[in-house]
Amino acid sequence: MSDILFKNGMFYGPQGEFWRGCLRVEGNRIVSVEAVDHPGSESRDSIEVVDVDGGFVIPGFVDAHVHLSSLALKRLRCDLSPARSAKDVRDRLAEWAADNDSPFVIGVDFDESRWEHQKLPTRHMLDGVDDRRPVFARRICGHIGVVNSMMLERIKSRPDLVDRDTGVVTEHAVWEAGRMCEPESEAVIAGTADAIKDLFAVGITTVHDIVEEKKFDQYLTAISKAQTPLRIDALINTNPRFLHRFVSQSEATSAGNLRVVGAKCFLDGSIGGRTAALNADYADHPGWGTLLMQRPVLQTIAGECFDSRYLLAIHAIGDRAVDLATGVVTEFPAGTESFRIEHCEVTAPPQIERLKHAPAFLCLQPNFVRNWGGPGGLNETRLGRERNRWCNAHRSLYETGRPCIFGSDGMPPGPLYGIKGSIEHPVADERMTPQEALACYTATAHTVGAHKREAGVLEPGNFADLVVLTDDPLSADPDTIQVKMTVVDGEVVHRSSGAITP
Ligand SMILES: [Zn+2]
Repeated sequence: MSDILFKNGMFYGPQGEFWRGCLRVEGNRIVSVEAVDHPGSESRDSIEVVDVDGGFVIPGFVDAHVHLSSLALKRLRCDLSPARSAKDVRDRLAEWAADNDSPFVIGVDFDESRWEHQKLPTRHMLDGVDDRRPVFARRICGHIGVVNSMMLERIKSRPDLVDRDTGVVTEHAVWEAGRMCEPESEAVIAGTADAIKDLFAVGITTVHDIVEEKKFDQYLTAISKAQTPLRIDALINTNPRFLHRFVSQSEATSAGNLRVVGAKCFLDGSIGGRTAALNADYADHPGWGTLLMQRPVLQTIAGECFDSRYLLAIHAIGDRAVDLATGVVTEFPAGTESFRIEHCEVTAPPQIERLKHAPAFLCLQPNFVRNWGGPGGLNETRLGRERNRWCNAHRSLYETGRPCIFGSDGMPPGPLYGIKGSIEHPVADERMTPQEALACYTATAHTVGAHKREAGVLEPGNFADLVVLTDDPLSADPDTIQVKMTVVDGEVVHRSSGAITP
């Protein structure tokens, strides 16, 4: 880490405007921002001068909802995201199985909502992939999957989560299947370091990471070994009562900028898997989805987090789950900063009205709008036209006055990809402006978590977390903008080839 002077750049100011000038970093902090191109300090020997050549410099992005371990694992599994049919899933798995001698065959991220025939693979199809190894294909949402007959026999989850005829598994049964297909610890550790590099390449400098409690030891080892400055606010899938253990364990390890900040709980599943808890039937299938937690349980864990000043991230996608989350957090005093509602996808004017009084951060996924929000897309198929109008209603949610933060849920991580989803929302009334969308991915996201208000704005005193972009994110099509350089804690962690020469 050396002192760096970034000169000849367009810098993003707290008022949402770019100004020309330079920015100086000492150690891991920004020490000055000046509207001149050639400040005197340039002549100092000990300073590295980076000419950003008219690039647009913004605060580092915060991906406020990722699963770093899943991103690491994804690199070690068959990628089913390009699959275009159930048969294609089978073929890709068979190809992977032929090249990999692991004790199981696993593929992730198929999305049948984008196929012409939206039929899931079946266990019989997966039996054709390999009959001597367990075979598991998981949907992109992570809430639904299909297993072969051999694996089906080993699944012990509740009968209502396992369809013995088709091999389709949901929720806890999916997680159980996933746990059976864990690669070697060494591979996961190496995969984590690579996954972090992928995040830096898209300008992410902080993540709010969801971590499984049973994986915490391995996770901590992976983060320590990666020796990364990435800021990680970890939300553990655990009972808040046990959080202090994870905190002391992480404090006893040299895991850089990792902080355990709270717990995560699930109220429901996903729209794709028809497991999001709705207030009425799905449009394309009878059934309302399932609430995974009852009100008294949520009240208890919310109270525990509130009392011990931890965050509680509440996964709520369907309107019934959103109602439950909203109702419970509203029992706490206004101004409480303990709660986050993750996704908040299916709403309508009554939910939006009630959210105005709910002391919670709303963690939204703008990339979901892009992936599944359009006319004829998955959300419209599952919810029907009228409910889809209010699905991922970003502008309405933003105007509740609740602090909105953006996270990708790893589908895929990419703030610029997501921002396009929000500023070009298919429902014109729900569009955010580029400034608002940027704030959700930067400044506002730093009003929650471990490094509150110490980053997210390019101001003296703040952490030197910044990103250099090729074009103006306030006017250019986000798809055409490249990340030239990423800096975290004063350290250059990504430089796109040939873009910037120091
Ligand atoms: Zn998630």
